[in-house]
Amino acid sequence: MKFGSSGIRGVVNTEITSESALCIGRAVGSEYHDVVVGRDPRTSSEMIEYAAISGLLSMGCQVTRVGMVATPTLAYAARSHDCGVMITASHNPPEYAGVKLFNPDGMAFDSGQQESIERSIEGADFKLTSWDGIHPVRTDKNAVSDHISMILSSIRIGKQMLVVVDCGCGAASLTTPYLLRELGCNVITLNSQPDGFFPGRSSEPKEENLASLRSLVREVHADVGIAHDGDADRMVAVDDTGRFVSNDKLLAFFGMREAERSMVVPVDTSMLIDAVLPGVTITRTRVGDVYVAEEIKRTLADFGGEASGTWIFPKVSYCPDGIYAAARLVEIISREEGRFSDHISALPEYEIKRGTLPYRGGIGGRDGMNRIEEELRTVPGFTDINTLDGVRIALDDAWALVRPSGTEPLIRITVEGKTKAVVDILYLHIEKIIKEL
Ligand code: MG
Repeated sequence: MKFGSSGIRGVVNTEITSESALCIGRAVGSEYHDVVVGRDPRTSSEMIEYAAISGLLSMGCQVTRVGMVATPTLAYAARSHDCGVMITASHNPPEYAGVKLFNPDGMAFDSGQQESIERSIEGADFKLTSWDGIHPVRTDKNAVSDHISMILSSIRIGKQMLVVVDCGCGAASLTTPYLLRELGCNVITLNSQPDGFFPGRSSEPKEENLASLRSLVREVHADVGIAHDGDADRMVAVDDTGRFVSNDKLLAFFGMREAERSMVVPVDTSMLIDAVLPGVTITRTRVGDVYVAEEIKRTLADFGGEASGTWIFPKVSYCPDGIYAAARLVEIISREEGRFSDHISALPEYEIKRGTLPYRGGIGGRDGMNRIEEELRTVPGFTDINTLDGVRIALDDAWALVRPSGTEPLIRITVEGKTKAVVDILYLHIEKIIKEL
């Protein structure tokens, strides 16, 4: 059983079973003594939760259950425990189950912590507690209201707003709509009853899955539309014209308000960020929100995020908090002149092209990447290189990222530039270099 950058995930009862959840519980319980456990509304989540809790208890662990909550709610609840266990497969299809682990500061487990848990799962040599070392399970019914109160204490709406919220039948269904109403908004909900079948839409909040939200925002003349993924660490937006706001633009929109000195983004982030934040230090990390969070913590950056819809506000938590992000977005729109769509339309527009080529270096392979790197340094207009995750080169008016896929024997190419001509020429040039190698 291996952790990815977003925890353990797999199809339930084939890849992730009660037995594996029991082992995860035991492994976590061998290192942490006071653990808070939450779950998303998937059909499998209670089954996985009971098995994980059984494992934790068998190690003599204190267990507190917070019930069905969003991931950022569990991460916030972890502040008064040694560790948080969230049973969720995030935005994956309904047949998936998963587990994510959190530190008390809301930061997901780093690779060292994950490896330590993996080793004890593999070793399976657990020293079970004696009969009188088994604690009763505690229940905390206040996790959602505590999270809402924390957000209410820092957000003030400037004027009455009409907001449409699409929770995708996920964990935020019982949080975001209520929070926004408490803030004084008029809220219309879509898919906001928790349902592990995700009947309303796919739980990944991508533009093509949000047609109902876009048309409802248009029909009711809402000020903004908001959508979450299944566990609400993500949040995406639709503007007042019903147009999906690209996550690169939303990242820029937040960055312009949050990042005074410094901001952290992954290597595949648009040059839009650099264009709209000229005086701000932008650090680029490996792809994955946990790497962004780690770098924010290390450098004490003001803000960070990933264009998957994850926004990290370190003054609130190192866990991407889609619920806080929704409230903060509504606050900004309600307090600034002009409509949301005006702010978005004012951002520069760039051309982007993405493609793949077969890669003999294999899945995630580094073979050949050094030679690709050497060749990319000779591209006309070259100004800078970043090799943290694949090879990213910057040019005066464009950038490109060449990265071996982590799941297939492919190499992914991303090129972004100010004009289509620039992008096409650079893309063809890179394609030629890779084919020749
Ligand atoms: Mg998620």
